[in-house]
Amino acid sequence: MKILVVDDSDDAQKIIKHYIEKAGDHTTIPATSAAEAYRYLGINGESQNCPSIDILLLDVVLEDDSGLHVCKTIKADPRYSDLPILIMTSDHSSETLEEAFQSGAMDFIQKPLRKAELLARINSALQIKQEMDQRKQREQELLKSSRELKIANEVLQNLFTIDPLTSINNRGHFDMVYDQEWKRAKREKLPLCLVILDVDFFKLYNDTYGHQAGDNCLIRVADAISSSLHRAGDFAARYGGEEFVVLLPYTNLEGGKIVAEEIRQAILDLKIEHVKSMVSPIISISAGVCSLVPTNEISPEKLISQADMALYFAKKSGRNQVQQCDALPDGFSIT
Ligand code: GH3
Ligand code: MG
Ligand code: MG
Repeated sequence: MKILVVDDSDDAQKIIKHYIEKAGDHTTIPATSAAEAYRYLGINGESQNCPSIDILLLDVVLEDDSGLHVCKTIKADPRYSDLPILIMTSDHSSETLEEAFQSGAMDFIQKPLRKAELLARINSALQIKQEMDQRKQREQELLKSSRELKIANEVLQNLFTIDPLTSINNRGHFDMVYDQEWKRAKREKLPLCLVILDVDFFKLYNDTYGHQAGDNCLIRVADAISSSLHRAGDFAARYGGEEFVVLLPYTNLEGGKIVAEEIRQAILDLKIEHVKSMVSPIISISAGVCSLVPTNEISPEKLISQADMALYFAKKSGRNQVQQCDALPDGFSIT
């Protein structure tokens, strides 16, 4: 253990060194003034030094400063806030002791020094310091593992909820959110809107530009879909292949149609060349929109199948357009 002894008396330095170093595996470092102590500890800009010290013994009366002020100054440095400081004083008045504790001292030792007391106080200070260090280390370890756990959880969460190609939500996540939103809309008797979108002639795109270009196209399409959503509860996901879904809570058919049109336009605005498309020279999408107020009588699949039907109708009607479930001709069905 390293003990810094700040005392301007040579005799006191000698006695302390003798007592302490004889008693165990301790080394004393003498400092005969406040300035020398500061220099050693790198306080007050004296140097950038930060030696590891286990205990500091500090005389209450120094030639260049008061021990209590030195104690306060050292304690104010964050690097030494945990350093046990034992004040040595011949003044045993309760005011002095109170001041010593207030200035951050851990304990005090009476002068003239008595070997047994000096060693006992040093040992108990060392013990407290060790316990504090151990507790700090445990706290650090705990903090580290909780940080690691948080990261691992995030990775796992992403693995289960994010589509690896497009980085938007995957179908599993959509299923979960859809279930929640369906129940919430039913409880609150409010409309829930679903838009299903599908890239037009995407097989031809892959055949023309290659699968890698197809992947890049899907990433940009997904990005354009996400960027077109403005409300906090709006939720976009990759439903599979080149098909995407957008769930819009508290949204009626009119509102849903506006969002779907915005998305269709945002994808046209990407101006991704598609020379083989039979509907437009650039990548386009078709979309089906449906909105309903969920009730116990309606199954959650109904909204999905109705939006899907509207998408199918959009495809049949020429692609690159939005269709809504209430515009389907009588008897229209997916064949
Ligand atoms: P439609 O206008 O009727 O939707 O025609 P389409 O060609 O887009 O539809 P189809 O279902 O015939 O083809 C979809 C294509 O999407 C076929 C498949 O290879 C491609 N595809 C699905 N997932 C991916 C993917 O992750 N990456 C790439 N590059 N292509 C994909
Ligand atoms: Mg398609
Ligand atoms: Mg498709």
